[in-house]
Amino acid sequence: MTQYSANQASKPITENDEELERLFEEASPVVLALAAVHMSGSMDIIRNGPKTSLPTYNGDIYGSLSQEDGDALRAKALEIAKAWRDAGHPEPYRPSEDEVHKMLCFLLGFDLPREYQPMIREDMALDAVDARTFEWTREVGEEAKLRHPVAIIGAGMSGMLIGLRLKQAGIPFTILERHDSVGGTWFENRYPGLRVDVPSHSYSFSFVQDYRWSHLYSYQGELLEYFRKCRDRFGIGEHIRYGVTVKGADWNEAERRWDVAIETSDGARETVEARSLVSACGFFNKTHTPDFAGKESFKGIQFHSGEWRDDVSLEGKRVAIIGNAATTLQMVPPVSEIASQLTVYQRSPSWTSVNPDYDRPIHDGEQWAFEHLPYFAGWMRAAVFNWTLDLPPLHMMVDPDWPQDGRAVSAANEAVRQRNTAQYEKWLGDRPDLLEKLLPKYPPFVKRPTVSHGNFFEAVKRDNVEVVTDAIARITENGIVDETGTERTFDIIVYATGYKVQEYITPMKIRGRGGVEINEFWQDRPGGYLGCVVPHFPNFYMMYGPGTNLGYNGNLIFNSELQARYIAYCIRLSIENGQEALEVREKVYDDYMDRSTEKLKQFVWSTDFGTTYFRNSAGMVTTNSPWSMLEMWTWLKEPDPDDFVGADDMAEA
Ligand SMILES: Cc1cc2nc3c(=O)[nH]c(=O)nc-3n(C[C@H](O)[C@H](O)[C@H](O)COP(=O)(O)OP(=O)(O)OC[C@H]3O[C@@H](n4cnc5c(N)ncnc54)[C@H](O)[C@@H]3O)c2cc1C
Repeated sequence: MTQYSANQASKPITENDEELERLFEEASPVVLALAAVHMSGSMDIIRNGPKTSLPTYNGDIYGSLSQEDGDALRAKALEIAKAWRDAGHPEPYRPSEDEVHKMLCFLLGFDLPREYQPMIREDMALDAVDARTFEWTREVGEEAKLRHPVAIIGAGMSGMLIGLRLKQAGIPFTILERHDSVGGTWFENRYPGLRVDVPSHSYSFSFVQDYRWSHLYSYQGELLEYFRKCRDRFGIGEHIRYGVTVKGADWNEAERRWDVAIETSDGARETVEARSLVSACGFFNKTHTPDFAGKESFKGIQFHSGEWRDDVSLEGKRVAIIGNAATTLQMVPPVSEIASQLTVYQRSPSWTSVNPDYDRPIHDGEQWAFEHLPYFAGWMRAAVFNWTLDLPPLHMMVDPDWPQDGRAVSAANEAVRQRNTAQYEKWLGDRPDLLEKLLPKYPPFVKRPTVSHGNFFEAVKRDNVEVVTDAIARITENGIVDETGTERTFDIIVYATGYKVQEYITPMKIRGRGGVEINEFWQDRPGGYLGCVVPHFPNFYMMYGPGTNLGYNGNLIFNSELQARYIAYCIRLSIENGQEALEVREKVYDDYMDRSTEKLKQFVWSTDFGTTYFRNSAGMVTTNSPWSMLEMWTWLKEPDPDDFVGADDMAEA
């Protein structure tokens, strides 16, 4: 098995007792206790330990323990670490399956269903640095691999992942990337305040757990650096062609390959031939700017938040931000501190949950523990993944017996409304005008929820910040006129108006068997079997395509790791069986799509209680996956050969 990185702690403890005590103070007692099991070889610390309970917010790693219980647990773990150090760091204990299950239940604060254990164990890298590494099932000659070159569209984290798997397999591949960097989203977006909303120790590759994040929720610059370092560590860079835009691709039936049309940065056109084609072109990479009347007449500077102008200073300027979703929530605090005036034009507010740890740095003691305590990193990863969210998401599902009054869709959804409302009242209670504007009237989760540590609420209360809820009538040469006729003047207008998420693959034209174009094939119902494969498009694979965005659970790197493994194993299936082309059976695809559509109808996203980018113009939820991570992990382990037909049988598929 290829071992690329040392995932877990490898440094000996050289600190004295006092130093150790100080370091332990800064780490979660629950995660320390689990590392202590590996150091002591005994489950006593858990067996005799306090009872943990469910996390109270995403990234809560403290098992909801009282201060007293946490301190006592930490003290026991400290004694174990000292003994382990004094004994000369004997080989860490490998707990049995049963023990790992008990450890997970202790960590997560609930009785985790047993079937979750292998998946979490794999993701924690408890047994292997890279448990999802590519493996052949039979001997394959170099010639067969060379006959299967793969083209990958995009060098975001998804493109890098499938590239890595193919590299491990020895299958030739080229990543075609329009920019001059890896990182995708985290390269393209640079607006102030941009950071992840899932903890970094889970929003990262499972096989690279030795990166020292500065914050629990890291900022864009650090994410970009992470992806660049991973590119270099795994030798992906030499397979990337930068400055190359894929315009489209045609399935060449005679040659059983894709002819990929590209344009280089100097405007030259070229065709790249590939046996398989993987689209890793992303989801949020076509900005959407509404066509306001008079937009062109504005004499100041205007741009979309996704096309940030590094050459434009906001210092002392009158700034308008149009839109009030996740981007605005992140942008308002830093921009309000430098702009002379900041006006947010809001069409509808977003539900925001307050997470006290959203801005917390990773403490020195934690950084130290990652490097010195066995499996601390893996347990931390499992803790911040928030696996409880993968259980049936009742808070997002419509209860037909609940009165559908447009406020909530079920008792669990109403409970979230009340919890979040209490936070809004806490932060904005002294500003009833803002509370009225910012507290959503529609049920939680109709739109993508946002997260803050409270700084957004603080920022909107500043004297230089205004929230306007009157619709925009037009843009003038000096500023914006709203529907009441009020004109406000601005130096800069920032459009935080989202992305064209419904336009998958476009503007590329992907034409499969018989010349059918993929968007014409999909019409109002884009998707892929398991999110990855589409009938009539042999050897064409999608990562983070339609129907795979996560609406309630997991994170997208985990999702892409599963898709990369599945796609790499589809290609393996072709090569090992001597098939030049492979295509999913139409019936298999149709069944999956029907099941997904039915399941999606149960979610709050399908109601029309508010506008949301999850739904297309036909009212169908096309962006989100209705499935649990456990289901996807199970289905995406490897392709079922019966789901596919080979090149010779495609016409009958
Ligand atoms: C502002 C913002 C914040 C986000 N925050 C979070 C978050 O907190 N948590 C989370 O889980 N997810 C978040 N996401 C989603 C994020 O997009 C994914 O997590 C992840 O980055 C997707 O990676 P990807 O490689 O699939 O796609 P991308 O990162 O979008 O990469 C796609 C790549 O394909 C290239 N490409 C596209 N078309 C072509 C073409 N025709 N020719 C050549 N190259 C092409 C692009 O240039 C890009 O490099 C956020 C997205 C945005 C926009």
